[in-house]
Amino acid sequence: MSEIPLSQPDITDKEINAVVDTLRSGRLSIGPRRDLFEQMVAERCKRHEGIAVSSGTGGLHMLMVALGIGPGDEVITTPFSFIASANCILMVGAKPVFVDIDPSSLNIDPSKIEQAITPKTKAIIAVPVFGNTRHMDRIEQIAQVHEITLIEDACEALGGMCANRPAGSFGRASVFGFYPNKQITTGEGGMIVTNDSHLANVCRSLRNQGRAEGAPAPAAMSSVPGDNCGSWLAHDRLGYNYRLSEIACALGCAQMERLDEILEKRRVVASRYMQKLMDWDDLILPNVAPGTEETTSWFVFVIRLSNQYNGTERDRVISGMRRHEVGVSNYFPCIHLQPFYRQSFGYKQGDFPISESISQRTIALPFHSNLDETQIELVCHTLKVMLQREQLLKR
Ligand SMILES: *Cc1c(COP(=O)(O)O)cnc(C)c1O
Repeated sequence: MSEIPLSQPDITDKEINAVVDTLRSGRLSIGPRRDLFEQMVAERCKRHEGIAVSSGTGGLHMLMVALGIGPGDEVITTPFSFIASANCILMVGAKPVFVDIDPSSLNIDPSKIEQAITPKTKAIIAVPVFGNTRHMDRIEQIAQVHEITLIEDACEALGGMCANRPAGSFGRASVFGFYPNKQITTGEGGMIVTNDSHLANVCRSLRNQGRAEGAPAPAAMSSVPGDNCGSWLAHDRLGYNYRLSEIACALGCAQMERLDEILEKRRVVASRYMQKLMDWDDLILPNVAPGTEETTSWFVFVIRLSNQYNGTERDRVISGMRRHEVGVSNYFPCIHLQPFYRQSFGYKQGDFPISESISQRTIALPFHSNLDETQIELVCHTLKVMLQREQLLKR
């Protein structure tokens, strides 16, 4: 029996050929494939500007820097997410202010945001977690009313829709990530999208060592300093190297061309899981907002054990499934309970009870676009055996 991985990228000859063509072209960074990839992602989410970056985390970090957020500032975000959506706040020395989640969408609860706003609040980072875009429109309205910048960490939601608008179109800017477990991948990579051309240009400069935007790259092969030399070594601000290579961008373009196909395959896998698990009364299945079945961009398939199970039991189910070569994971441990958050900000157990209760009971099942019926059957069977064992242990 071979292992069923938690996730797996969907790579075809199209992607392989695009990468090989790039290698043969001799242009490996700052070139036409990046421009095209930026255009494709920006268009998909109806934004004017795309800024390709070396990771989603790098994109979030640059936005914090570009918005001038720093020590003394507060940024509101969710404790139930991948850690990067909060770490970017720490990277610039600001304070993350967590707001508990809505148990049905697992996203930040809009009705709890206003009580967390203070004069120090500089931004809200909203995360459509697991690809569920619910509440993004309401969070955007709250941000507008209070004149607070909204950043959408859409790293898990490429291709999804909310209120007839694409994920990546909410707030002042949004960020995508292209790690191999995401809907599309560039190996490592990410993209900022925005309609704010000034913000976009600051990010392009930050991405490129603080060079003036438009500073031409020196010709790849030339060893003779040309006219470009001056501006390539002129730095307007403290910047980073967050560029994304042409090789990665070529892969990204090929994946973007297949995005709708990939999303449809993922919807089929999700609905198979739904059908098989629907009648199990000790499980809570992902809650897709009514009317979004056809537009949901599934990042992962995360189930919850019912309240009769505790965290220790969930962990035992996870290790049991792993022992049977089924790749499962505990998406997500609460961010505020990570040791360096407790130490730096004094967060503790009990601060965000809904997130804490849910994160103890979640299990991410194997999920990718090529997971077949037999594998899904085997995952569900293994889960059933492990839950039956827990019932026996309880007696
Ligand atoms: C994947 C992800 C990121 C970015 O991850 P990178 O590995 O840096 O590309 C950021 N936020 C969330 C919520 C994510 O899931």
